[in-house]
Amino acid sequence: MSSSSDPGHTGDCLFCRLVAGDVPAEVVEATDRSVAFRDVNPQAPTHVLVVPRAHHANAVELATGDPEALADVVRLADSVAEAEGLAGDYRLVFNTGAGAGQTVFHTHLHVLGGRPFTWPPG
Ligand code: AMP
Ligand code: ZN
Repeated sequence: MSSSSDPGHTGDCLFCRLVAGDVPAEVVEATDRSVAFRDVNPQAPTHVLVVPRAHHANAVELATGDPEALADVVRLADSVAEAEGLAGDYRLVFNTGAGAGQTVFHTHLHVLGGRPFTWPPG
Protein backbone atom coordinates (compact mmCIF):
# COMPACT_ATOMS: atom_id res chain seq x y z
CA MET A 1 0.00 0.00 0.00
CA SER A 2 2.22 2.79 -1.32
CA SER A 3 -0.28 5.46 -0.32
CA SER A 4 0.48 5.02 3.37
CA SER A 5 3.78 6.76 2.80
CA ASP A 6 2.08 9.94 1.55
CA PRO A 7 2.70 12.91 3.85
CA GLY A 8 -0.17 13.26 6.25
CA HIS A 9 -1.83 10.02 5.26
CA THR A 10 -3.74 8.50 8.14
CA GLY A 11 -5.01 4.97 7.65
CA ASP A 12 -8.15 5.45 9.71
CA CYS A 13 -9.28 8.67 7.99
CA LEU A 14 -12.09 8.15 5.46
CA PHE A 15 -11.00 10.97 3.15
CA CYS A 16 -7.30 10.00 3.31
CA ARG A 17 -8.38 6.53 2.21
CA LEU A 18 -10.57 8.02 -0.52
CA VAL A 19 -7.69 10.22 -1.81
CA ALA A 20 -5.46 7.14 -1.81
CA GLY A 21 -8.01 5.26 -3.94
CA ASP A 22 -8.85 2.78 -1.17
CA VAL A 23 -12.46 4.05 -0.93
CA PRO A 24 -14.46 4.46 -4.16
CA ALA A 25 -15.52 7.97 -5.15
CA GLU A 26 -16.91 9.80 -8.16
CA VAL A 27 -13.99 12.14 -8.72
CA VAL A 28 -14.93 15.12 -10.91
CA GLU A 29 -11.65 17.04 -10.96
CA ALA A 30 -8.28 17.06 -9.22
CA THR A 31 -5.00 18.94 -8.92
CA ASP A 32 -1.67 17.75 -7.59
CA ARG A 33 -2.76 18.99 -4.13
CA SER A 34 -6.56 18.58 -4.04
CA VAL A 35 -9.33 16.19 -5.10
CA ALA A 36 -12.99 17.02 -5.87
CA PHE A 37 -15.61 14.27 -5.69
CA ARG A 38 -19.41 14.02 -5.43
CA ASP A 39 -20.97 13.85 -1.97
CA VAL A 40 -22.70 10.48 -1.42
CA ASN A 41 -25.68 12.24 0.17
CA PRO A 42 -26.19 15.30 -2.03
CA GLN A 43 -28.07 18.28 -0.60
CA ALA A 44 -28.35 20.14 -3.93
CA PRO A 45 -28.20 19.24 -7.66
CA THR A 46 -24.46 19.95 -7.42
CA HIS A 47 -22.88 18.80 -4.17
CA VAL A 48 -19.16 18.23 -4.48
CA LEU A 49 -16.55 17.97 -1.74
CA VAL A 50 -13.07 19.37 -2.30
CA VAL A 51 -10.33 18.01 -0.04
CA PRO A 52 -6.60 18.57 0.24
CA ARG A 53 -4.66 15.37 -0.48
CA ALA A 54 -2.73 15.84 2.77
CA HIS A 55 -4.47 15.30 6.07
CA HIS A 56 -5.59 18.35 8.05
CA ALA A 57 -8.48 18.12 10.50
CA ASN A 58 -10.35 21.26 9.49
CA ALA A 59 -10.13 24.50 7.50
CA VAL A 60 -8.24 26.38 10.21
CA GLU A 61 -5.56 23.69 10.50
CA LEU A 62 -5.18 23.76 6.72
CA ALA A 63 -4.99 27.57 6.63
CA THR A 64 -2.37 27.56 9.38
CA GLY A 65 -0.36 24.56 8.21
CA ASP A 66 -0.45 25.07 4.44
CA PRO A 67 -2.11 28.28 3.22
CA GLU A 68 -1.35 27.56 -0.42
CA ALA A 69 -3.11 24.19 -0.13
CA LEU A 70 -6.18 26.01 1.21
CA ALA A 71 -6.04 28.37 -1.77
CA ASP A 72 -5.80 25.36 -4.09
CA VAL A 73 -8.94 23.86 -2.51
CA VAL A 74 -10.90 27.10 -3.06
CA ARG A 75 -9.65 27.50 -6.64
CA LEU A 76 -10.60 23.90 -7.43
CA ALA A 77 -14.06 24.51 -5.94
CA ASP A 78 -14.56 27.42 -8.35
CA SER A 79 -13.34 25.32 -11.27
CA VAL A 80 -15.84 22.58 -10.37
CA ALA A 81 -18.65 25.15 -10.09
CA GLU A 82 -17.75 26.50 -13.53
CA ALA A 83 -17.73 22.99 -15.02
CA GLU A 84 -21.12 22.30 -13.42
CA GLY A 85 -22.56 25.39 -15.13
CA LEU A 86 -23.22 27.29 -11.92
CA ALA A 87 -22.11 30.59 -13.48
CA GLY A 88 -20.65 32.06 -10.29
CA ASP A 89 -23.67 31.20 -8.10
CA TYR A 90 -22.77 28.59 -5.52
CA ARG A 91 -22.35 28.10 -1.80
CA LEU A 92 -19.07 27.07 -0.16
CA VAL A 93 -19.25 25.56 3.33
CA PHE A 94 -16.61 24.39 5.79
CA ASN A 95 -18.40 22.78 8.73
CA THR A 96 -15.88 23.21 11.54
CA GLY A 97 -16.36 21.23 14.75
CA ALA A 98 -18.91 18.56 15.65
CA GLY A 99 -21.28 21.17 17.05
CA ALA A 100 -21.44 22.82 13.62
CA GLY A 101 -22.10 19.54 11.84
CA GLN A 102 -18.59 18.36 10.95
CA THR A 103 -18.62 14.57 10.78
CA VAL A 104 -15.42 13.83 8.82
CA PHE A 105 -12.31 15.33 10.39
CA HIS A 106 -10.30 15.78 7.19
CA THR A 107 -10.76 19.28 5.77
CA HIS A 108 -13.45 19.33 3.10
CA LEU A 109 -15.09 22.22 1.32
CA HIS A 110 -18.72 21.64 0.33
CA VAL A 111 -19.57 23.10 -3.10
CA LEU A 112 -23.34 23.39 -3.39
CA GLY A 113 -25.34 24.76 -6.29
CA GLY A 114 -28.15 24.33 -8.76
CA ARG A 115 -30.98 25.43 -6.49
CA PRO A 116 -31.89 28.57 -4.51
CA PHE A 117 -30.41 28.85 -1.00
CA THR A 118 -31.83 30.58 2.04
CA TRP A 119 -30.03 32.68 4.62
CA PRO A 120 -29.50 32.11 7.49
CA PRO A 121 -28.67 28.45 6.79
CA GLY A 122 -30.37 25.70 8.79
P1 AMP B 1 -19.45 17.20 7.16
O1 AMP B 1 -20.75 16.85 7.85
O2 AMP B 1 -19.31 18.67 6.86
O3 AMP B 1 -18.27 16.63 7.91
O4 AMP B 1 -19.50 16.54 5.72
C1 AMP B 1 -19.18 15.20 5.48
C2 AMP B 1 -19.80 14.87 4.15
O5 AMP B 1 -19.17 13.73 3.64
C3 AMP B 1 -21.28 14.56 4.21
O6 AMP B 1 -22.00 15.47 3.37
C4 AMP B 1 -21.38 13.12 3.71
O7 AMP B 1 -22.53 12.90 2.92
C5 AMP B 1 -20.11 12.99 2.90
N1 AMP B 1 -19.55 11.66 2.77
C6 AMP B 1 -19.36 10.74 3.75
N2 AMP B 1 -18.78 9.64 3.25
C7 AMP B 1 -18.55 9.88 1.94
C8 AMP B 1 -17.98 9.14 0.87
N3 AMP B 1 -17.49 7.89 1.05
N4 AMP B 1 -17.93 9.69 -0.36
C9 AMP B 1 -18.43 10.91 -0.57
N5 AMP B 1 -18.99 11.69 0.39
C10 AMP B 1 -19.06 11.17 1.62
ZN1 ZN C 1 -7.37 12.46 6.33
